[in-house]
Order: sequence, then structure tokens, then C-alpha cells
Amino acid sequence: MHTILFDIDGTLLRCGGAGLAAIGHAMEQLFGVKQLGKVTVHGRTDQGILNDLFEQSSLVFDDHRDEFNQKYWTKLTQTLGESPSYLLPGVPALLEQLAAREDVALGVLTGNSERAAEVKLRHFNLDHFFHFGGFGDLHSNRNDVARLALESARSFLGGQFDASRLWVIGDTVNDIVCARAIDAKVVAVETGGASRSELEAAVPDSVLASLDDRSAFYKTLGLG
Ligand SMILES: [Mg+2]
Repeated sequence: MHTILFDIDGTLLRCGGAGLAAIGHAMEQLFGVKQLGKVTVHGRTDQGILNDLFEQSSLVFDDHRDEFNQKYWTKLTQTLGESPSYLLPGVPALLEQLAAREDVALGVLTGNSERAAEVKLRHFNLDHFFHFGGFGDLHSNRNDVARLALESARSFLGGQFDASRLWVIGDTVNDIVCARAIDAKVVAVETGGASRSELEAAVPDSVLASLDDRSAFYKTLGLG
């Protein structure tokens, strides 16, 4: 069984700022924060991003986690519809083909919190493709999220799990690093903004321009 763990943002879809817009809305409603500080989001986890944003407003995310998340997730449904969000090339066709195979199991490995991931995937009707995953609710370090994804895959697949056929697909250097932390192979895609040379410097097994190149994807993963 091939186990393939997909990153979400920049790999399957682009949210067009919907995530930060929803976070900004929740920060303003709860704490009167009018302007979010500058924060890097690509390749990071929700826990890490929110820790930084709260700290910039002299707040502690862990003290407000539940009330904040409720507002954030509810608003995200709306901001996704209002933002220039879109699916990346070839994504639905690739997932459909992979999901139809009996030798492939699909999961997610994302810095998004579990509920935010679900909202984003559902918005684009992709949620039904994925059966397990690791999420960024509680960890700032993506390597810890990769370990959660690995545990989740092992527990879902049981005896069918094959560690030598474990793949991570992502768009950032952090995706490549976290794949190696769980001894997975990794395909990097250029659809998230990182350049080919940045990605290659982290030595993935392959770099693809996009997931639209299905023959290269299948060849790399050894899926005939
Ligand atoms: Mg990403």
C-alpha cells in the first residue's frame, strides 16, 4: 500500500488570504485588534502562527484557544467564499484517480488545525478523499505534525501500512524537512511560491511544477 500524505495550502489549493482574513476578524471581535502583525504563514502550523500573532498583541494564544478557534473556524467558511481562493491545476483529477486505486491510501499532513483543514477541503469538495492525517492544532513544529500523521496512517491502515511506500507531497522546505523526520519520501511542488532552487536545496526526491503533471507524479511514486 502506498500511503500519500498531502499538504493543503499551496499544494492542493490557494486560499487567497482567507485564513488570515478569518484570523483577523476573530482577533478584532474578541480583542479589538484592528491590524494583524506581520507573520510568516507558509509551511508553518496554526499553533505556531497564532502563538506569534497573539504575542504581538501581548496576548497568550493558549489562554484563549477555544473561544478564538470557534470564531476563526466559523468565519473561515465565509472568508473562503469571499477571497480569490482556488484549486491548483490537476488536483481534483489526480485525487480522483488515486482514490480509485486499491494500492493507495490518502491522508493529509498540514499545519492547519483539523477543523480549518476540514473547512478548506470541504469548500472545494476534496474532504471525502482523505481518511487520516496530522494537523497543526497543538504543535508549532511541523515535524511533530508529521509524526501525528504517521501515527494516524498506521492506525487507520493497520497491517496494510508499508513504511517503505510512505510519501509526503508539499510546497515548502518545511514539508521536505518534516517528511524526512518520519523517514518518508517527498515530492515538492512549485505551486506554493517557493522556487525550484529553494526546494531543491532541501533535497526532495522530486520537484514538480504542479500536480497537473500526473505522469511524472506516478513515475516518481512508482505507481504504474
Ligand atoms: Mg503548504
